[in-house]
This record gives sequence, C-alpha cells and structure tokens, in this order.
Amino acid sequence: MQSYAPAFVPTPERVAALDRLGDEIALLSAHLDAASARLLELIREFDSRGGWNSDFRSCAAWLSWRVGLDPGAARERVRVARALGTLPLLADALARGELSYAKVRALTRVATPETEARLLGVGRAGTAAHVERIVRGWRCVDRRAEARETALRHRRRGLRVSQEEDGMVVVRGRLEPVVGALLIQALAAAREALYQRARVAEGEDRCGNVSAETPSMAQRQADALALLAETALHQGLDPGTPGERYQVVVHVDASALADPEQPGQSVLEDGARVSAETSQRLACDASRVVMRHDEDGRVVEIGARTRTIPPALRRALAHRDRGCRFPGCGGRFAEGHHLRHWAHGGPTTLSNLALLCRRHHRSVHEEGFQVARGPDGMLAFRWPDGRPLPDVPAPAAVPADPVATLRANHEAQGLRLTARTGLPGWLGEPLDVVWAIDVLHPLAQGARPALDHSTLGG
Ligand SMILES: [Zn+2]
Ligand SMILES: [Zn+2]
Repeated sequence: MQSYAPAFVPTPERVAALDRLGDEIALLSAHLDAASARLLELIREFDSRGGWNSDFRSCAAWLSWRVGLDPGAARERVRVARALGTLPLLADALARGELSYAKVRALTRVATPETEARLLGVGRAGTAAHVERIVRGWRCVDRRAEARETALRHRRRGLRVSQEEDGMVVVRGRLEPVVGALLIQALAAAREALYQRARVAEGEDRCGNVSAETPSMAQRQADALALLAETALHQGLDPGTPGERYQVVVHVDASALADPEQPGQSVLEDGARVSAETSQRLACDASRVVMRHDEDGRVVEIGARTRTIPPALRRALAHRDRGCRFPGCGGRFAEGHHLRHWAHGGPTTLSNLALLCRRHHRSVHEEGFQVARGPDGMLAFRWPDGRPLPDVPAPAAVPADPVATLRANHEAQGLRLTARTGLPGWLGEPLDVVWAIDVLHPLAQGARPALDHSTLGG
C-alpha cells in the first residue's frame, strides 16, 4: 500500500536528533514547572496581603486584568496558589520540576495536609491522565463523606429558648452554616442600625446626661436580636421583593448634592446621616421624588416619582457597556454612573453615562478613583493619586532570551533539572482506579459497592 506521509527512515542519526529534541522539550517543561511554583508563591503572597483589594473584586479578577489570563484560568491559578500554602510537599515537588503544573492542579483539588504525602506518591508514579482519574474517584468518596456530614449537621440543628427564675430568657442553639451566616449578617446589620441611632441621639443631647457605659459586644448582640425580632413582627414576617427589601430613602439638600463641601443634610429615612459623596452615588442612578420644604422643614410640594435614567436609555446603556466598565471588572449587575453628576448639570445621555457595578460605583464616588471620557470617546480611569488605570496593562519586559535567563536563574538557585526530572514512575501497567482509591483514601472503606468503574470513566 502506498503511503503519502513522508517516510521516516530511522537512521541512528535521526533517532538521536529526535531524542535530543524530546529531551529539550522535557527539560524546558521542567524549568517552566519550577518557574510556575515561584509564580504561584508570588500570587499567594499578593493574595494574602490583599494586593488586589485596592479595587478588584478578587485576586483572580486582578490577575486576569494584569497578565491577560482568561478568567477561568486566573481563578484556577489563585485556587492552586492558596491550596499550595498548606501543602508543602506538593509545592516543593512543583518547585523542583518533579510534578507538572497539570498534576499539581489536579491533586490540589482533593489533597489535605493529612493526605498530601499519599497523593504526592500518586502524582510521582502516574501519568497526568492517571492522576486525573484518581482525583475524580477521590472526589466521589469525598462528596459522599461530605453529604453524610451535611445530613448530620442538618439533624443536629436546634434552638432552645427557656426562662430562668429571675425572668431572663436564655437562648441556646446550633444552626447550620448557611443559616448561621444569615443570622450573623442580620445581627451585624441590626447592631450597625442601633449604633447609628445612638450616634444621632448622642448628637442631639450632647450637653445633657453623662453618657452611660459603653455596652459590651454581648450586650449589643442582645440589643440587635431584639431589633431583629421587633422588625420581623412589624413586617409580618414577609420578606417582600428584593427591590423593596433593599430600598433606601435618602433625604438630601439640593445644595449638598451639588457640592459636597456645601453645608446641607443627607439623612436616611431613619435619621442616620450619610456622607454627601454617598448620597451623590445613591442619587446617580435612582428613583427621584423631589420634595420642597419650607423654612420650618415642612414639606410643601411633592413632585412625581421619576427614574433618573429612563428605561429606554438604560437598555441602550446596558447594550453598549455590557456590564461594569471599571478595568478588569465587567460585573453584570451594574448601575448607571453620570460622568458629570446630574446635580452639577450633567445630562442624562449615553455619552455622559457609564455602567459601574455597586462596588466600583463606590470607588468612583467615595474612594477617589476618577473616570472621564476622553476626546476619542473612550473611558479613561485613574487611581486616586492620578496615575492612569489602563484597561489592559502593558506586559512586563522580557529578556531577549527568556529561556536562557530562566535556566540561568534556576542554575543560580542550585536547581538541577534534567530531561528525566518530571518522568512518572509508571511502567505501562493498567491502572485500577477503584483499587487505588480503596487503598489510599482514608474514608474509602466500604465505599467500594457505590464506586465502580463507570463513575470513574473507565
Ligand atoms: Zn455615579
Ligand atoms: Zn465593577
């Protein structure tokens, strides 16, 4: 039969040349894996020190913006970087070029400090495909264990309310994590509301009574719980629509809205004061009801309720901006920001509007970030100190021969890499995943009947 592929005649010279090429690929891969370990270390440090927190939603969003990774890959890098912080054996193996980034990435999905040593063995012995399959099986066992734990936690929930002889009511309970988080958040919100009320009241009779002792955290928690109960009963236990739940009414003097330096009032419905910058942000994209007050503060005239940005314009804005325009964000739930505030005479037109997510809307109004539309019609963002904040930062300068530089750096660190550094110990025998997990996973005992080859992809 005739073959049209170029015939490969395996002369000894050709075989040797291809071997050298293969070795070079393996060697450079080991160098890149070792460099990845350093990269992940830097990302972990940047993340833990909150380097991204100046104005990005997450470390991954920052990474995606700064080095141009796609968002999924950026999230994965940050996840692996964080995981390696508690997995020194896997981190070392990557740094020595012994395990590929692909293997480490798979292993960090299941590894814990207790199981890390065994999984390192799996990584060393198997190919990347073996490691992937073992990790998948491992997760099945983990998930089952987790489901058992969740069911157990659910059964152990409870709240006891009893009354002591002196009339005090004792509350003791155990809540599932999500419910607990909800309670903690609600208590924090209630504490905040009480604290603000107290501040307003204090302002009113500053020259009156000597203020009582500052209540302890436990006392404030008790007050917050009372407010929660009161509020719940008052609202008839109806959570309402999200729009109603989070509606905020701000009374603001027109002069304060136009110029934060001007004296004037910005007061929430319950009497708490907010900064003029905050009221500008809330007014930037809101329903407006204009009320005129007379000198004594009585309302003399109420206008019709209007949306600052009419629905048709909002649709056009959403279509044009597609989400938050802040560099590196793109958040989908966004508010319309007036580049020049309407209180300063800025028009509500497409060219004077930009979508910003709630967080970045705050950055612009309250944290000193600046945004303007340039003569070319493009938005230009700036850090609070005036430095430009580009949409796509310039890539870092790379030496003329990056590979030689990488090798020289590793050499200088005493890292001896060869074409065989990352080679698995596998000799070609078939892999029995079920058996492997049964032997390795601490919780796998008895998992065998439910764990079969079909769930593990062969
Ligand atoms: Zn705004
Ligand atoms: Zn944003």
